[in-house]
Amino acid sequence: MDLPGRLVDGYRAFIDVRLPIELQRFERLAATGQKPEVMVIGCCDSRVSPEVIFDAHPGELFVVRNVANLVPPYSPTGLTHGISAALEFAVLGLKVKYIVVMGHSHCGGVRAFVEHRDRPDPGDFIDNWMSLITPTATALEAEGHPLRPDSLVRLEQASVVSTLANLMTFPWIRRRVEAQDLQLLGAYFDVATGHLSACDRDSGTFVPVVAFNARPASG
Ligand SMILES: [Zn+2]
Repeated sequence: MDLPGRLVDGYRAFIDVRLPIELQRFERLAATGQKPEVMVIGCCDSRVSPEVIFDAHPGELFVVRNVANLVPPYSPTGLTHGISAALEFAVLGLKVKYIVVMGHSHCGGVRAFVEHRDRPDPGDFIDNWMSLITPTATALEAEGHPLRPDSLVRLEQASVVSTLANLMTFPWIRRRVEAQDLQLLGAYFDVATGHLSACDRDSGTFVPVVAFNARPASG
């Protein structure tokens, strides 16, 4: 079966332009293994690729993406836990120095949570997965911030902060953080503008990563 034409065209562009530039890096990484210093936990959303946003080369970012960039609390049951397995590999195997949880604007997962919240017939997976942000949403509402589908930024950003707290429930993450061998960081990408902000842990607010004085010329 053929791959979609868009992928074949993209791959041709890759071997024409990028592969010649990156080939030595690929060869070295194949021989020595990967040693990324940064793990990024991002959303599946097609608009928020960490490799694109951070202009990353092969071997630089260990990326895990799921719906709404969430991490369930530590729960070593006999069930299958994709994100926890990736964390274990990144933290204990690769010994990454940073874990960045990157939320984003216009997140469909967060929107689904707000819109489906009282739905009597949850689907197979998304509603259950998104229930991870119920405590965050409940806390915001208790603080007087009603949740509306047209105003999700506060919940999207608060969810990043909650996910950073969930990461600390993993004992081997906590140990490495307390030993200052690992930093947990939050970020938030605005899809409409390309602006990236980072979480200030003291204030819980998100501040621009770099000055963004003017939009780049388009076209
Ligand atoms: Zn999303």
